[in-house]
Amino acid sequence: MKAQLEAYQAAVQGLSPAQAMAWALREFGVGQVALASSFGLEDQLLTQWLVELEPKARVFTLDTGRLFQETYECMGATQKKLGLSFEVYFPDPQKVKELYKTKGPNSFYESVANRKECCGIRKVEPLGKALFGLKLWITGQRRDQSLTRAALETVEWDEAHGLFKLNPLADWTEEQVWARVLAEEVPYNSLHDLGFPSIGCLPCTRKVEPGQEARAGRWWWEEPEHKECGLHSRPK
Ligand code: SF4
Repeated sequence: MKAQLEAYQAAVQGLSPAQAMAWALREFGVGQVALASSFGLEDQLLTQWLVELEPKARVFTLDTGRLFQETYECMGATQKKLGLSFEVYFPDPQKVKELYKTKGPNSFYESVANRKECCGIRKVEPLGKALFGLKLWITGQRRDQSLTRAALETVEWDEAHGLFKLNPLADWTEEQVWARVLAEEVPYNSLHDLGFPSIGCLPCTRKVEPGQEARAGRWWWEEPEHKECGLHSRPK
């Protein structure tokens, strides 16, 4: 696996994000590659580029049931502009019901363990279903988004899910992403204009102050090293 990973890393070296996604579609086939979107700025840019490359490209999203209305508006605008049908995955209703019954609707504020339990039910399990059968998934992660993403590679082996992961914007800055989004009239979540650089579930996301890192508003009550939801495990 190490040799294969190194070969893929060499194959995408020096490619633009769109070229790297084109490489992935050629290497693995359109049906075995999918972009994961939470309708963040980076996801929106990659979605537009991916659909321009291949209209049948797969883009999936996880509807946790706790998203902002603005996120659904962004999803609708993107569907309309690109003629794209998102593959939407939902949490197991029985598990949500059980969580409400035993811990109430907002248990994530009480401890990291409770927060991870909620993310596990609403995000990680549905992600496992979304990734089933794929050979590679594409994400909008960037290195400078947070402490937990500082070691991000453009191509990685996702040990937890058993497939490759492509992060075409790994070395891009937020300014670069904004420049392309505005120049190419990519639909974006209106919350970005209100001080939310990174947007997840409504109860777990707030605005950031000038100078704070992009993901500082996610799970703001936790220490920075805990700020991942389990979707993106990093090699140790
Ligand atoms: S971000 Fe918050 S509401 Fe969303 S799944 Fe995680 S803990 Fe639950």
